[in-house]
Amino acid sequence: MNLDNLNKLFYVRGSNQGTIKLGPTVIADGFIESSEENEEHHFISHAHTDHFRKSRIRKTWYLEKPIIATTPTLKLLEAYDINTSFNHQLVKAQNHGEIVTYDTGTKVRLLENNHILGSVQIEVEYDGQRFGYSGDFGENIEEYINVDYLIMDATYAGHPVKKSWTRDDCLEELAERINDASESGPVNICGTSGLLNEIAGFLGENGFWDDYKNVLGNKRVKHWCDVYSEYGYKQPTITTDDYETDLYNEILNSKKYIQLVNRRNDFKRSVPDGTTFWIENRNINSEEPITKNNNNERWYDVTLTSHAFADDIFSYVRNVNPKYIITDASRGETTAIELEKKLKQNFADIKIISSNLI
Ligand SMILES: [Zn+2]
Repeated sequence: MNLDNLNKLFYVRGSNQGTIKLGPTVIADGFIESSEENEEHHFISHAHTDHFRKSRIRKTWYLEKPIIATTPTLKLLEAYDINTSFNHQLVKAQNHGEIVTYDTGTKVRLLENNHILGSVQIEVEYDGQRFGYSGDFGENIEEYINVDYLIMDATYAGHPVKKSWTRDDCLEELAERINDASESGPVNICGTSGLLNEIAGFLGENGFWDDYKNVLGNKRVKHWCDVYSEYGYKQPTITTDDYETDLYNEILNSKKYIQLVNRRNDFKRSVPDGTTFWIENRNINSEEPITKNNNNERWYDVTLTSHAFADDIFSYVRNVNPKYIITDASRGETTAIELEKKLKQNFADIKIISSNLI
């Protein structure tokens, strides 16, 4: 394929809309533009809000083209008032491991990428060319897409990380601290969706929710917990303030509850009552998995993440082994440029470019 042609088939569209173009007929995340008549299949890589917008899905639907995602992703999207009930003619489920050849002749395979429930790597084959998108990906991936042209999540820029603890060490310490803190007053856990549910699941596996019933959250947190439960994660039963106000207030006033939130803004006060665990999901470069915040005695920063970092990023590239990589700058130009540099130092044979330079 000559490069001129490649530029039309494989790129990240726009600086902040994050449309991943994978060959003539497929886009991932973002939305289908009316001017691009060949774009037929809109995949949603996972249910994090920086990878879809209701307004963008509407644009695709307006053109009467379907959105396609795994069944758990479609269920999670319903938390954002996106009607993905399965008889909806503009919604298609394609699940992990499934290979589907669409009527455009495009063959698509979705693979697990260990980021959150339902999240995928996307492999697209069209006319002998193979394009792929890593999606946001986590560590310990078992099966990799097989593509020549790869667009890569650049959330972590491949910084080397010095730490002597594992994710399981952190989860164990966190569970212990939550258990202790819950004996003496309210506990607040703030973490991004999916990661928060994994933490809740870890507590559940250890029987925590069997004894602890006063769990507060908003409608969205409740929806994510319900979907995760369906897939075998032991989640708490959430009381929300939407339609259970009396019960919610009663629990709140008891001063003995656990509150689950996705964002700091969801706390009704900037520093909520009791002990707070704030899951960073970004900076994992810390010698201790859980550190006490300098400004607040009862606020802990927890360095867990659902993204791969350091060597796991390089291992991803080694395993996919593409000829060409675009690092996705639509969620952060700096990290995309940084990742481009790091990959160039490590993979001399691969052509690598950051999407904001295209
Ligand atoms: Zn994500």
